[in-house]
Amino acid sequence: MGNIFHKISWFIKEEWKTYLLMLTLLLCIAFISLTPARVLGLAIDTIVSGGVNSSSLSFLVFALLLLPLGRYLLSFTYNYIVNVEAQKLAFKLRKKYLTHLFEMDSRFYEMYEKGDLISRVTNDLEAITTAATSLLEGLVFNIGLIFFAIGVMSTTISWKLTLISIIIMPIGLTILNVIRTNKRKYIKRHREIYAEMTEKVLESVEGQKAIRAYVQEDSDLEKQYLAIDKDIESWRYIVRFENWFNPLFEIIYGIAYILAFAFGVYFIIHQEMTLGGLITFVSYIGLLYGPIISISTIFSQINNATISVDRFDEILKQTAEVHDEPTSKSIIHFNEIDFKNVTFKYPFDKTPVIRNITFTIKKGQTIGIVGPTGAGKSTLIRQLLREFNTTEGQIFVDGVPIEDYIIDDIRNLVGYVPQSHMLFKRAVDENIMIGNPKANLTELDKAVKIADFEKDLMYLNDGLHTQVGEAGSTLSGGQKQRLSIARALIKNPEILILDDSLSAVDAKTEDTIIDHLKEYRQGKTNIIVAHRFSAVRDADIILVLENGKISQRGTHEELLRMEGWYKQQYIQQMTMK
Ligand code: ADP
Repeated sequence: MGNIFHKISWFIKEEWKTYLLMLTLLLCIAFISLTPARVLGLAIDTIVSGGVNSSSLSFLVFALLLLPLGRYLLSFTYNYIVNVEAQKLAFKLRKKYLTHLFEMDSRFYEMYEKGDLISRVTNDLEAITTAATSLLEGLVFNIGLIFFAIGVMSTTISWKLTLISIIIMPIGLTILNVIRTNKRKYIKRHREIYAEMTEKVLESVEGQKAIRAYVQEDSDLEKQYLAIDKDIESWRYIVRFENWFNPLFEIIYGIAYILAFAFGVYFIIHQEMTLGGLITFVSYIGLLYGPIISISTIFSQINNATISVDRFDEILKQTAEVHDEPTSKSIIHFNEIDFKNVTFKYPFDKTPVIRNITFTIKKGQTIGIVGPTGAGKSTLIRQLLREFNTTEGQIFVDGVPIEDYIIDDIRNLVGYVPQSHMLFKRAVDENIMIGNPKANLTELDKAVKIADFEKDLMYLNDGLHTQVGEAGSTLSGGQKQRLSIARALIKNPEILILDDSLSAVDAKTEDTIIDHLKEYRQGKTNIIVAHRFSAVRDADIILVLENGKISQRGTHEELLRMEGWYKQQYIQQMTMK
């Protein structure tokens, strides 16, 4: 349990004044909660002794009316503050978590599923903030209340009766805690199942178009139900443990009541206490029920939050393999990039996807990359984005290993148009400006022109200001590609990478874009991965990648003079036309 408070001790330190205020408020509430029973006892004793008069009566009535009002006001203030603090902590933790997610590399994202990452920042985070604010305060409050009540009972009524009736309580609480500790492992499992369920919902929402197109709603729902069922089943286990709690505790509590009554009557007969004293005492036993139950529940919830804090912390502890060093160099322009014997294996794969790749990219060149699907073309060019470190060999930029440069600087050199387009639910121009938020209108128009996106604007009802649907759902495949190309172009990158980005455009549009690149990107580097040879025909050098290796290299003409994949596929493509 200490774990959770240790982990958020920085927040308690930062907010100690507010925590102190909350604690004071709670102790005042505890005091007020206990006073009516005492006042009632005094009233009864005054009545029994015949000493009642108008001034003592009005004082008692006034006190009994004023106390609930005071309690209400204090509780209101406390609840307000505690909620503000919980939100503050949630905000800070979320900020920490999200900043950390952005610092992580692709290896990390291969390790954790989206649903899991989301459940940690929603479900788990909520458990942590509740534990750190209301539960922590509740714990102190209830413990305070119990001690306070026991103090009043033993000093002002009867210490003997106090001892007799509360001696049984710790026994009950110990039994309960043993059961609760065992429950922990089920809670941990439940959190994992919850994350799986979140992942399933996410997948279905993201893939709803494909699900509907293949009329797979029923089978997908079936999978959802299974995930939900699993979640409920694991929760049932936990509830079973919970069910031990109430009956057992009720019995123990009942015994405490009986003991208080029996011995209380005995003490009255022997004139060791008054009737008012016994009534106050029994009221206090009743009052203690709530706090004792609360403490036990709070302990259990804090226990659960400990699992959450571990899950949350697990992510924060992850370090990115691809990271900057204080000695990392800055770079704005480059002259030459050398791939030297580069081999790369995805983190959780056994065999490399690309092997012994050696080639040079010179500033201003256009490089074409072709080859069968799955040959490793994307994997090869994405090495320039520093998503992962190479497994073997090295990439040099102007003679310096790429790892020695500031990661963002290297990424800023590149304008990458991926195969799957990540479009946001914003206006078209905002989507393009993601490439360079500081771009002016002239630069925006230029990027739109080079990407041959201009002609699409008249089909969009509000031109550049047209809202794009979620994940680009309102645009055609070709429009999405051209918008993504414009986004990469607006930053006027040193290296433009088109990763099979012309697949959804017709041959004429492809020609226009290639011509535009030649015209507007003189002195800049282009890397074009393509299936159609027309897209790479004019490249300074074309690499043919087969099975992760460069099998051929040369200009279009040179490659046509060689026997091999390039010539074979070219002839096939030409005859299909
Ligand atoms: P291409 O671009 O030539 O079609 P890719 O570079 O996309 O080929 O993929 C090459 C191989 O690497 C394929 O077998 C693919 O399944 C595998 N691959 C691609 N991305 C990953 C990844 N993130 N993790 C593991 N394997 C991957």
